[in-house]
Amino acid sequence: MSFNQLQLCPQLLKALEEQGYEVPSQIQEKAIPEVLAGRDLLGCAQTGSGKTAAFALPILQLLWSKFGTANNHSKILTLILTPTRELAIQIYDSFRVYGRHLPLRCGVVVGGVSQKQQELMLAKGVDILVATPGRLCDLMDQGVINLNSVEFFVLDEADRMLDMGFINDVRKIGAKLRAERQTLMFSATMPNDVVKLVQTLLKDYVRIDVSPETPTVEAIEQRVYYVDTAHKKDLLLDILADENIRQALVFTRTKHGADLLTKQLVKDGVSALAIHGNKSQNARQSA
Ligand code: AMP
Repeated sequence: MSFNQLQLCPQLLKALEEQGYEVPSQIQEKAIPEVLAGRDLLGCAQTGSGKTAAFALPILQLLWSKFGTANNHSKILTLILTPTRELAIQIYDSFRVYGRHLPLRCGVVVGGVSQKQQELMLAKGVDILVATPGRLCDLMDQGVINLNSVEFFVLDEADRMLDMGFINDVRKIGAKLRAERQTLMFSATMPNDVVKLVQTLLKDYVRIDVSPETPTVEAIEQRVYYVDTAHKKDLLLDILADENIRQALVFTRTKHGADLLTKQLVKDGVSALAIHGNKSQNARQSA
């Protein structure tokens, strides 16, 4: 199947071509026609399945065909809720890329950065808002944000959202939305709490399951090295010296350990940066 067969408008097809996407992924092929037809949807899919485009493309198309180019309103028409700041920013970037030939405005609200800029952006108006639950609830409590025009609501990574303790925030946000909306929910797993959430948020929905062709764990070759603490850094340097390794992700047990190892690597000529919860959001982003 090609993207042409999914009834997407030329502006979106052009953006996809520019991105080098040739064929839709499994979730895109199944979800896009359902969302375009106005159905609520439950997608059981993981990150890496292409689920962002599976909801972003049809939403962009529906927004454009329903609300056109006038753009003189200040109503939030689409809300995407996702558990982490990094995911929120990735989704925002995806909307910007896929929607670059459409006159729709997109914004992001996440914690860890100044609220002022976000307030200004909201005052100017956005059609699509990507948010993490904590900051969104803060803005709601302060009366800075109004969600009663939302036509499309996406709950991304629902299982992770609940694992991270956001259930009350999600309920609170859900209660502020109008009943006449289209809701799309994505979750990699379906624990009971997610099933309950599905029952309260979705109406007459279609369920789409896609499993990854190769589960991540099987796609990764794993090795164990027994080594004294004193020699761990040298072993790591030796492994990183392999020229096939152009980028590497190294996990440490503590934040302090991450900072220490980064310093040691840099001293040994390896370009390295640390990312952890004590770093500012800007430092995390630029890393
Ligand atoms: P996601 O699961 O939405 O996080 O997407 C995973 C990655 O796949 C992202 O880097 C996308 O840019 C990329 N991607 C999504 N759809 C396609 C497609 N149809 N063809 C090629 N790459 C894609």
